[in-house]
Amino acid sequence: MKIQLFDKLDASYKDMVQIRRHLHMHPEVSFEETETAKYIQKFYDELGVAYEANVGGNGVVAHIKGSKPGKTIALRADFDALPIQEENDIPYKSTVAGVMHACGHDGHTATMLQLAKALHEMREQLVGEYVIIHQHAEEFAPGGAKPMVEAGCLNGVDAVFGTHLWSLTPFGTVEHRPGPMMASSDRFEITIHGRGGHGAMPQDTVDALTVGAQLVTYLQQIVSRRVDPIESAVVTIGSFNAGDTFNVIPGEAKISGTVRTFIPEIRDLVQAEIERIVKGTCLAADCSYSYDYLRGYPPVVNHEKEAAFLTTIAKEIPGVLNVQQCPPLMVGEDFSYYLEEVPGVFFFTGAMPENTVYPHHHPKFDFREESMLIASKTLGAAVLDYQNL
Ligand code: MN
Repeated sequence: MKIQLFDKLDASYKDMVQIRRHLHMHPEVSFEETETAKYIQKFYDELGVAYEANVGGNGVVAHIKGSKPGKTIALRADFDALPIQEENDIPYKSTVAGVMHACGHDGHTATMLQLAKALHEMREQLVGEYVIIHQHAEEFAPGGAKPMVEAGCLNGVDAVFGTHLWSLTPFGTVEHRPGPMMASSDRFEITIHGRGGHGAMPQDTVDALTVGAQLVTYLQQIVSRRVDPIESAVVTIGSFNAGDTFNVIPGEAKISGTVRTFIPEIRDLVQAEIERIVKGTCLAADCSYSYDYLRGYPPVVNHEKEAAFLTTIAKEIPGVLNVQQCPPLMVGEDFSYYLEEVPGVFFFTGAMPENTVYPHHHPKFDFREESMLIASKTLGAAVLDYQNL
């Protein structure tokens, strides 16, 4: 059955490229992807596949039912673009000023539509059910995954699979890792409310700048003295503003920063420790504070069993030359929300261009289109083989 699926995908490659290039020419930024959503819906209308539109926003969820009972498996592809002016000189260059598919989500969508079509054509032989999640707004927190999960897109789902075409990974390589693979990315803001006054009369003030300076140093001790040294975390203070002139003691100081972690417990710990230090320092200095901790996406944590399963099946995919374990990345991804609900794995499909390589979110980003074929085959083999796991 896998051979038949691969043959269908091979035959669909031209259409895959055509869809990808169409989407590339008509990008829409996060939360505004209404035309892209309509394009996806039209594809399923023409195919005769049932779907739900406006799932948690612009999300589209298609359902393909096999003829025999089995597991329900979800596949996810995101479809939003970025507020970037494309600098590539290519026939399929973005036609929208200041907006560009600079992360490859156009390719994810093309890959998934053709895979869905192939699965639909094979539905008489298929076991189980397939839930195709076309997700809006991956690029901009709070993202599309969370509202789609809340809207029930994972109801009854036994496992979830997703991939990212990755321009920094060699073509022919599939890589992932069990456990934490991509970091949570959070933001915090602290305001110290002291009492300003004359630079020559400190006894009448509460110097917010001095308190802030203590905080900047003290907060470094969270990673060095609170987090288990075997684990990893980043606490970066990116801004510290207080005072306007040389002879006035500032009554207010503002500090902001970012926290990156891979494990939910460490994330909770860092968030709580920051507040404890702010509270204690301000208590000692006799001033008040406000503290906002804004959670971005949680870490992407692959499930052990599904990660091992993917390694096994990926080695058998035509075109895959190398399956390897990648190091954890400090980049965020809202695929994490699916993995918090059901077992699954997120992996990178090597999509390195033959010419110059530009990173994701670069105005000259592009990827090798044949990687879409490898991605579709790997995802397709994953859902077929997972029925027997
Ligand atoms: Mn992306």
